Amino acid sequence: MRIFKDPETMQCWALEQRVAGQIIGLVPTMGYLHDGHLSLIKTATRECDIAVVSIFVNPTQFGPNEDFGRYPRDSDGDLTMCEEHGVDVVFMPDADAMYAQDASVYVMENRLARNLCGASRQNHFSGVCTVVAKLFNIVQPHEAFFGQKDYQQAAIIRRMVCDLNFAIDIRVLPIVRGRDGLALSSRNIYLSPDEHQRALALNRSLQQAYELFFAGENRASVLKQSIRELLEAEGLKIDYVEIVNGETLVAVSDVEMGNVILAAVYCGKTRLIDNCIV
Ligand code: AMP
Repeated sequence: MRIFKDPETMQCWALEQRVAGQIIGLVPTMGYLHDGHLSLIKTATRECDIAVVSIFVNPTQFGPNEDFGRYPRDSDGDLTMCEEHGVDVVFMPDADAMYAQDASVYVMENRLARNLCGASRQNHFSGVCTVVAKLFNIVQPHEAFFGQKDYQQAAIIRRMVCDLNFAIDIRVLPIVRGRDGLALSSRNIYLSPDEHQRALALNRSLQQAYELFFAGENRASVLKQSIRELLEAEGLKIDYVEIVNGETLVAVSDVEMGNVILAAVYCGKTRLIDNCIV
């Protein structure tokens, strides 16, 4: 397994591979890998000639009061996992190699990024789009793999790829959950045992709304209220509960198949997100 830290070296190598006809798949991550990441990695290694995993805790997507400093990191564990799963290349740059001191160009999506997580995390998606665009240019992938766990992020990346003419196939894979239903996330490590238990209400509430819908209830207001009640009963602080069109991310009032139910909560200090496609 090759490990590149320098963006230019990574890019030169990737360009050579493309010229040699190799199909490159990229899995962008912030590391502290878990089975959710592994599902993307396994698909990339299976379906592409070269699977590249990027590991970069991207400072520009964290707000000033967010957890950039204490975001969990374990490069050695991540590298072992990548090696064991047949990853060809790990790209793990330092922040100063990724961002020039005087950098002044950013990528901003101006519609899908406004609501949901974008409402409470100002500039988050601009940070995400900028780093993903840079990773696309550096790693030169034919395909890139993302998780449905970050539904809004995936929708925005698709939009960016379309609007900026990246010749990259964006693949979005299902949410991987623990046995107890909690969506896997690097941030779950922050949860105390009691918080972990209460956090299970997140998936449970979405699941309950999903079942209510299939029992004939299609009023978004009623479904959202049922979710809110369950979350509040567990003492979770709600950031948002929303049901949206799966492409435009515009809130709907009458729920239809293909709509997406999303929620973000604070469990103690930890912000958790989850979603479910109807
Ligand atoms: P992160 O390291 O949290 O930035 O995540 C890197 C990629 O893994 C993103 O595309 C996430 O959506 C995806 N991902 C994270 N958690 C999960 C999960 N539980 N199931 C599937 N994909 C996930």
